[in-house]
Amino acid sequence: MSESRHARQVALPVIGAEGQRRLSRATVAVVGLGALGSVEAEWLVRAGVGRLLLVDRDVVETTNLQRQVLYTEDDAARGRPKAEAAAARLRAVDSAVDLVPLALDLGPEAAEERLAEADLLLDGTDNFETRYLLNDLAVATRRPWVYAGAVGIHGAVAAFPVGTGCLRCLWPEPPPPGATPTCRDAGVLGPAVGAVASLAAAQAVRLLVGDAPEAPRLLHLDAWSLEVHAVAVPRDPECPACGARRFPWLDGERGRAEAEPVCGSEAVQLPADGARPDLVAGARRLAGRVEGLETTAGLVRWRHRGLELYLFADGRVLVRGTRDVGRARSALARTLGC
Ligand SMILES: [Zn+2]
Repeated sequence: MSESRHARQVALPVIGAEGQRRLSRATVAVVGLGALGSVEAEWLVRAGVGRLLLVDRDVVETTNLQRQVLYTEDDAARGRPKAEAAAARLRAVDSAVDLVPLALDLGPEAAEERLAEADLLLDGTDNFETRYLLNDLAVATRRPWVYAGAVGIHGAVAAFPVGTGCLRCLWPEPPPPGATPTCRDAGVLGPAVGAVASLAAAQAVRLLVGDAPEAPRLLHLDAWSLEVHAVAVPRDPECPACGARRFPWLDGERGRAEAEPVCGSEAVQLPADGARPDLVAGARRLAGRVEGLETTAGLVRWRHRGLELYLFADGRVLVRGTRDVGRARSALARTLGC
């Protein structure tokens, strides 16, 4: 019985039986399944959210295990897509929750199409391009979303109920590339990210049970010194997103560069060139010509001169072992051809 599983949560006056029913009927998109998304997704599954869309473009690496609590050494050794490894782990936590792994790079089209059914968007990403895309999507489609970010020993979280203001009221523009530290340069304390992700999950639960605050708040946390600051985020009538209702990230006018090194990782991502690839034909072409060829559902993996290449069903190629876009493109061209 779901009531007995969630009894300690139903007992909370802020949730109750009606709140629990709302959670069980809700669909949440967790975008990014690294350190933030791992913790967020696990709390929502344990809380009894009915359906989770689990979005991540990357595969599990050994350096993830220090903070990305859904994954194991086996996932890293196999280079499993995070979306699939996360879904498998969370299914073992609660088999009644409907888990939808989406191993894809979230561009504007995918965001609109694949996240259309989500009642709430939850930020598990490591980059501002995706966050501003989520903000555009949430404001444009009048859905609540929760921002979270962490690096070093710090983190921040903010919940944006519908019609109350948004991320661009707070920060009209994302920081320029390279202006903010990444977890690769600055390091990251696992429990600091975990704390921020837990607060983000709590805010998601609050919004899902229908107890939305009147105005967004931004909380900043230093997990080392235990300094915490929270400020109200006033709605900016001049805000380009929720004021003027312009959505350049969703319209594709702004966004990430064509091919880019993956944040915090020794890897390059090459975007899909349009058509969806035929994975079976691709694997056949590679057979006998490359090392370490493996085919799983939605993924072909192989090695070339010290690099590992992954071809995903949506046409993206992830090249691990370099941050040099040219070297990554060359490895792809020499093996799979153009
Ligand atoms: Zn705004």
